[in-house]
Amino acid sequence: MDEATIRTAIGRFRDDEGRPLVAAENLANVIAEDTWFTVVLGGAGNDQRLLPPLHRHLTTAFPGASVELRLGDRIYRGGGGFGPGRHVVAVLGGKGGVGKSTIAVSLALTLSALGSTVGLLDGDLSAPDIPHLLGIHPQRSRGEGWQLWRTDPPPPSRWRRPSARFGLEVMSTGFVLAEDEAPLVTSRVMVSALLRHLIFEVAWTADALVIDAPPGTGEELQVMAQELPLSGAILVTTPQDLAQMDAGRTLTLLAAHDVPVIGVVQNMAALECPHCAREIDLFARSSRLTDAGVPVLGRIPFDVRLSEAVDRGEPLVLGDPRGPIAREFARIGHAVRRWLADRDRGVAA
Ligand code: ADP
Repeated sequence: MDEATIRTAIGRFRDDEGRPLVAAENLANVIAEDTWFTVVLGGAGNDQRLLPPLHRHLTTAFPGASVELRLGDRIYRGGGGFGPGRHVVAVLGGKGGVGKSTIAVSLALTLSALGSTVGLLDGDLSAPDIPHLLGIHPQRSRGEGWQLWRTDPPPPSRWRRPSARFGLEVMSTGFVLAEDEAPLVTSRVMVSALLRHLIFEVAWTADALVIDAPPGTGEELQVMAQELPLSGAILVTTPQDLAQMDAGRTLTLLAAHDVPVIGVVQNMAALECPHCAREIDLFARSSRLTDAGVPVLGRIPFDVRLSEAVDRGEPLVLGDPRGPIAREFARIGHAVRRWLADRDRGVAA
């Protein structure tokens, strides 16, 4: 497989009247390596709607090859996620401190226990907490840097390897920064370049990539909704109206970019009284999100063992795999797997 053969195959991608759909001047670059190649489209004549049919054309022409297409800030590898049948699910909170990172870690471990190969990407570039939650404590910068400003996309042999922890593939800017170092991701351009690097230039083998997103609707969220190939999003909220209102803002952002919402996980939903085992509400209950039609995937109670486990870097779903919290996560995990399988069928239809 060489560049000239790939260029010839692109030349055979034509409309019903036999006109080439990618003009030579709109083909900026082709980079090939073993069984992988990327086609960089440029110029004004290309339309994002070309990506899926061009991808099908090239995977038919080169069976067994992994094909990547790049057009502007879009990178397309087939399917709804980051490859055919390979999903990217963002866990979003709206408000900070609602337990989004805790839920993202627990969900990733649960999906892995249910048989998927799972990656966990720390999407919070300015407060990367995932290493801490998994008991990894980098003290010093490794000095590797991020090399974001290349002219050509790097081939797979130059992709960064994710770390491995508890059977998950893990990637975080926290692996490059020490826990007390301030990150330097300051502009939309940098956020966009870094997030795309973390998804597309890391050697993930995962079928499902869970992204722990930062709170709010700032740059990272804008980039995720607009530029990343999200299969779907999961909202995490606490029960009160204020948290649900902020999650509602995130919902509006997702809708604006056609990112489907898988459902909401209600966290710190209630506390079991240690004396009489009755449920105590910690917050006033709001139905804002369910009223908006967002399905409830599960309810995680307030349980101090969850936060103790997090601080020890030993997630509770692993420490107490038969307990009620692990069971509720299994229910959530099954619902997410069903949703993704349905989406694959929908995408394939
Ligand atoms: P976020 O990512 O939304 O900022 P975190 O996952 O970091 O939230 O959680 C914030 C704090 O709340 C952490 O100390 C975490 O251990 C704790 N926490 C999260 N969910 C629960 C829960 N259901 N019960 C008890 N503590 C929780």
